[in-house]
Amino acid sequence: MGYQDTAVSPVLITGGAGFIGSHLAERLLAAGASVRVLDSLDPYYDVRLKQANLARLATVGGGRFEFQQGDLRDAAACGRAVAGVRAVVHLAALAGVRPSIADPVRYMDVNVTGTQTLLSQIADPAVVFVFGSSSSVYGGNTKVPFAEADNVDRPISPYAASKKAGELIVHAWHHLRGNPVASLRFFTVYGPRQRPEMAIHQFARLITDGKPIPFFGDGSSRRDYTYVDDIVAGVAAAITPPRPFAVYNLGGSATTSLAELVAHLERALGRKAELQRLPDQPGDVPITFADVALAERELGYQPRVGVAEGVERFCRWYLAEKQAGRIA
Ligand code: NAD
Repeated sequence: MGYQDTAVSPVLITGGAGFIGSHLAERLLAAGASVRVLDSLDPYYDVRLKQANLARLATVGGGRFEFQQGDLRDAAACGRAVAGVRAVVHLAALAGVRPSIADPVRYMDVNVTGTQTLLSQIADPAVVFVFGSSSSVYGGNTKVPFAEADNVDRPISPYAASKKAGELIVHAWHHLRGNPVASLRFFTVYGPRQRPEMAIHQFARLITDGKPIPFFGDGSSRRDYTYVDDIVAGVAAAITPPRPFAVYNLGGSATTSLAELVAHLERALGRKAELQRLPDQPGDVPITFADVALAERELGYQPRVGVAEGVERFCRWYLAEKQAGRIA
């Protein structure tokens, strides 16, 4: 099962200039698909990183790769982007939890109105829609691991609420239009080209520069970290969804405490971290932990890269990029 067996093409990836989207695009191009990216090149983080991702995709894909710069909230731009595609993987979003608390209206505008605007432009009932949701929809749930059937009515940040809203919107659209839909709940994704403000990337930068890292709470909060290649394999499999509508967890299926994560980084970077101890952050959840049994059964999903190995791979990439002057 999986993408290579079915070769759905062309595929639109919204947000394809970003971290996860550019990895997905690379994989689909390498498998022979045609890929179009719609991305606004939002300045949430350094746009040069997104331009570098696009340049790489143009090299890998040649004539099978097309970039359209445009905003999700622009119906005409969405209409041009979906023209002629057989699948849409919708990853464009404002993706930070903490910034969503400062600017909830903008998060709703992009993540909710933008998602609806994109859907409204898809006229062909055969087009598969894959929605990039998030483990944050599980809010402060304490029953672990998190399973798709658990209650997700208690998000604790505007970002999480916007992702839950997205899941509801794509369900209503599926119900009315009949298009196949898969919503995928990603659990903290990391790997080369990770967003610079995310914990692993930020910590690697600070440790390398000899600066203190923000260390929230007592270090016991736990996260299910997912290596980007594993996520991308799951997304690629969902492009041929086994059911007309489904929600799947895509996680690493193991948890790592903040203190353990720092120890992995110290080992991989060969340097001790200096800790700046801070109270727990509003909007942060104490634990995330994915039950991936459903994705294993129905998508053939299998997380393969454990966090020690993944952090080492990330740090190898980070140090090489830094040495070459391509990242801060
Ligand atoms: P990213 O910020 O690198 O990629 C998102 C892309 O969306 C960016 O390139 C950005 O320019 C684009 N974008 C933002 N607003 C847009 C708009 N209005 N119109 C068009 N494009 C717009 O983030 P990522 O980490 O690759 O995340 C991809 C998706 O996965 C997001 O939907 C995010 O919410 C979801 N997700 C990510 C993680 C993670 O750990 N990285 C976890 C759970 C869910």
